[in-house]
Amino acid sequence: MNPQTNGKPAEGCVFCQIDSGRLPSIRIYEDQDFLAFMDIAPVTEGHFLLATRAHYPTLLEMPEKLLARALPLAQKLARAALDGLSASGVNLLQNNGEVAGQAVPHWHLHIIPRRRPGELPLRPGAPADVTQLPFTAEKIIRGLK
Ligand code: AMP
Ligand code: ZN
Repeated sequence: MNPQTNGKPAEGCVFCQIDSGRLPSIRIYEDQDFLAFMDIAPVTEGHFLLATRAHYPTLLEMPEKLLARALPLAQKLARAALDGLSASGVNLLQNNGEVAGQAVPHWHLHIIPRRRPGELPLRPGAPADVTQLPFTAEKIIRGLK
């Protein structure tokens, strides 16, 4: 587990690099505290992540102020995904710690639109078709308006 808990960018953290723009991402939403961007290995079409801009490894280190914002924001984004992608359900998944399946130790919530029943894998899916991802993102963004 990454021990850094003060919210400062962590060396080598993929999501800190996405936040700073050093790594590319297909963004759906951003404000002063949060970013939402398409998952690079989606388990369903439209799978995206809501992440804090500040680096907190897991839920356990998150300041309450951010936690209080996270769920209403997830609700807004989930609604947008349902509307924009004509999905009929959505899973919210949040892993904490390597043993719990967390691969990127920077707090994030998976928002996974569902169109058909079935078990979800806890692991990332196949690499996304990056030529299609911006169009999927655009549909979610349209749902936000
Ligand atoms: P977790 O196992 O909960 O830590 O999930 C990490 C998620 O981040 C996985 O679904 C990965 O596909 C996703 N991911 C890793 N690197 C990137 C990236 N550069 N851009 C977008 N998603 C990523
Ligand atoms: Zn980070």
